[in-house]
Amino acid sequence: MSQSARPRPRAIRRAADLVSAGLLDEGRAALVDRVAERFALAITPDMVALIEPGEPDDPIARQFVPSAAELDEAPGERADPIGDDALSPVPGIVHRYPDRVLLKPLLACPVHCRFCFRREALGDGGALSPGQLEAALDYIRARPEVWEVILSGGDPLMLPPARLSAIMDALEAIPHVQVVRIHSRIPAVEPSRVDAAMVAALRRSKAVWLVLHANHPREMTEACRAACARLVDGGVAMLGQTVLLAGVNDDAAVLEALFRAMVATRVKPYYLHHGDLVRGTAHFRTGLDEGRGLVKSLRGRVSGLCQPTYVLDIPGGHGKVPIGPDHLRDGLVEDWRGDRHPYPPVA
Ligand SMILES: *Cc1c(COP(=O)(O)O)cnc(C)c1O
Repeated sequence: MSQSARPRPRAIRRAADLVSAGLLDEGRAALVDRVAERFALAITPDMVALIEPGEPDDPIARQFVPSAAELDEAPGERADPIGDDALSPVPGIVHRYPDRVLLKPLLACPVHCRFCFRREALGDGGALSPGQLEAALDYIRARPEVWEVILSGGDPLMLPPARLSAIMDALEAIPHVQVVRIHSRIPAVEPSRVDAAMVAALRRSKAVWLVLHANHPREMTEACRAACARLVDGGVAMLGQTVLLAGVNDDAAVLEALFRAMVATRVKPYYLHHGDLVRGTAHFRTGLDEGRGLVKSLRGRVSGLCQPTYVLDIPGGHGKVPIGPDHLRDGLVEDWRGDRHPYPPVA
């Protein structure tokens, strides 16, 4: 394969890096830098290696390489698309639902997804100070209704294993916290970070769930699968989350391949997210009907293990709701072939 013949790529932070990696024409560099000034650019070597040079519609490039379309703002788009800010009682905590809170220990990510719903909150690695982290933990300690803590960010697996381990120790010591969930893109975009020290930090007596964010089957590389295997063998249960993205995965065959690859890796597809109203991302959003049609076409054709719930995060902080196709209407249920049957059955 041509990819293995290429030298190991370096991380990309500027348009010039894209030019020298052969992934951008010199003539477009100024434009890319202009977009990157607004929304910073970062691509890991693993993801650079997946991009096919000279392929304008490459689904990996589309997720990470800045595009002029990001400077256009569409009606309804906003800086805080899902209304997190109003639900943050102390820095690093977002508390929307009674039984679970988000804890965001840092706002750094190994890659900057061009459609990220937190792109305007991402700093240059901004992390909670030790005092802020302790105050966030105190918030959780004081609320016995908090059954689950969701580490988000940023990407929590950007933390050095010792720092991650200290946070896990603190959470494990809170009796009412029964479950720790971590949302991360690292096993796909920088799998080498999932080393023995990282797995050891996550091996706990309490349930630890890791939700891998991956959007295209090509992201499920051999290295990614090996990283997931280390985690699952190390006692971490895994789920997958995917953002529905025009030009990346708005295609039944692509979604099928992605979800099959996840399940074969012991990663259960959990959510398929409808694109949030992030500023400058209209070119990534599909219609709701299109999403529902895609999800419907997978039903029956693909194992139930491979079916995520299609969800919309309601703007304004109202939370996520399933928006998948209706199979029951007017006393008729529709089967996976499209045939309709009365229910309860007539005889
Ligand atoms: C998405 C989200 C959660 C988790 O929701 P689940 O439906 O349990 O996956 C929790 N808190 C906030 C603020 C969220 O945005």
